[in-house]
Amino acid sequence: MSGDIGYITHFVDGKPWEHGATRQGEVYDPASGQVAALVDFASAADVGAVVGAADRAARAWRDASLAKRSTVLFAFRQLIHERRDELAAAITAEHGKVLSDAAGEVQRGLEVVEFACGIPSAQRGFFSENVSTEVDSYSIRQPLGVVAVITPFNFPAMVPLWFAPIAIACGNAVVLKPSEKDPSASVLLASWFAEAGLPDGVFNVVHGDKEAVDALLTHPQVKAVSFVGSTPIARYVYETGTAHGKRVQALGGAKNHMVVLPDADLDLAADAAVNAGFGSAGERCMAISVVVAVDPVGDELVGKIAQRVAGIRTGDGRRGCDMGPLVTRVHRDKVASYVDAGERAGAKVVVDGRSVQPDADGSGFFLGPTLFDQVTPQMSIYTDEIFGPVLSVVRVGTYDEALALVNGNPYGNGTAIFTNDGGAARRFQHEVEVGMIGVNVPIPVPMAYYSFGGWKASLFGDTHAHGAEGVHFFTRGKVVTSRWLDPRHGGINLGFPTQH
Ligand code: NAD
Repeated sequence: MSGDIGYITHFVDGKPWEHGATRQGEVYDPASGQVAALVDFASAADVGAVVGAADRAARAWRDASLAKRSTVLFAFRQLIHERRDELAAAITAEHGKVLSDAAGEVQRGLEVVEFACGIPSAQRGFFSENVSTEVDSYSIRQPLGVVAVITPFNFPAMVPLWFAPIAIACGNAVVLKPSEKDPSASVLLASWFAEAGLPDGVFNVVHGDKEAVDALLTHPQVKAVSFVGSTPIARYVYETGTAHGKRVQALGGAKNHMVVLPDADLDLAADAAVNAGFGSAGERCMAISVVVAVDPVGDELVGKIAQRVAGIRTGDGRRGCDMGPLVTRVHRDKVASYVDAGERAGAKVVVDGRSVQPDADGSGFFLGPTLFDQVTPQMSIYTDEIFGPVLSVVRVGTYDEALALVNGNPYGNGTAIFTNDGGAARRFQHEVEVGMIGVNVPIPVPMAYYSFGGWKASLFGDTHAHGAEGVHFFTRGKVVTSRWLDPRHGGINLGFPTQH
């Protein structure tokens, strides 16, 4: 370690936590390979104290008017809008993605805040007059209390913003446990929430690893858990959280296929494959990692993709490069080992990222873009989520083979079809077993007012993130049946209530 090392601690009850920590983790600048900061890791006792603070805050916040809640969210939205460059810079410094990509992440998070500003209409119930004679029924949705949000490294601002603004708008208090690899963005968001007028304790950030996560999953005052991360941890979080009586939505990993039919515009498809395959160095849950080339487009499509990949500039995300480093050295080496394994298994290395010369100082965690052709479904580069800049082309003979390949995959997060045949696209959207589908759109991330979530091993639980499903997740329903007595009385009737 050298130079100035930063220090990152929890944000609890409206301010930085001043009690220190017995354990800390290292946060890197992935472009230089240097340790940039130390981050406190919470113990189970620390988590208990944070949840206690959140619980006290939740009891008052649930009574805040919808007008008050949306006023805070509008102010929060304005702060992010004004300081988007600062947030993007914090993301790039710890995650490594290029600045323009970090700014895009901030924009997508901002859209969820804007959705949450509309909570007065999003949280409305229903009212039915005269469900029986002079009897009315209405439904209301109330907050849960304390909710935990546990997030991955790859979107350190956007994924927390998928959940926290909606949970808060619905009247809950939040304990966010961000990734320990890039924790600064969440601390910025916490301080901006406080500045926006959010009462102390309604939004808290606790850093750490499995110990902090387990403490949240088992704490009796935590009523719900929103998790995003890899599939094995998502499954564990879902099983542990639900076994402790919590409502859980756990979004997992992905292996997203892009099907290219023979009638597709191949230049459009090649652009899309490159952007979706190598953007954010492939560290996106909606990245395309498999291009399914339907005969006879394989040769031409691979040629067009290879030509574009050759032009990608890899380097420090602060230098106007196209693609940054991977998040840690361990992850970089794991991705590189998949490239080695793909080559050994007989896939054709069309572009080899292992020999990249990055535009950066120091020894950052760089791996250039790699393109494989002639990949088969048995190879580990096909079966595993690599989460790096590695794009595999699988060739198939027909649409039906392409569909069978996508549907046979255990993941079901996103997929795309490239075609000029509306009927084929419509058939694909009907038949494919995937949660989010793009038609000539490679990264079909739904807008904030729709809900985000995959199928199969990409989501445990039944509720997707944000949009109406997000509001539903962070609230529970009550139905009231009421009669205001009329001077006319019905008398005694022991029968089951029916309409009349
Ligand atoms: P990860 O599963 O390693 O970590 C996610 C969170 O879980 C982090 O906060 C981490 O501290 C915590 N964690 C890690 N190991 C744990 C353990 N053993 N017990 C309890 N908690 C633990 O994921 P990551 O590497 O940070 O993120 C990349 C993964 O996230 C990829 O698989 C990607 O596909 C997935 N992801 C999915 C979506 C989606 O919407 N489906 C979105 C973004 C990322």
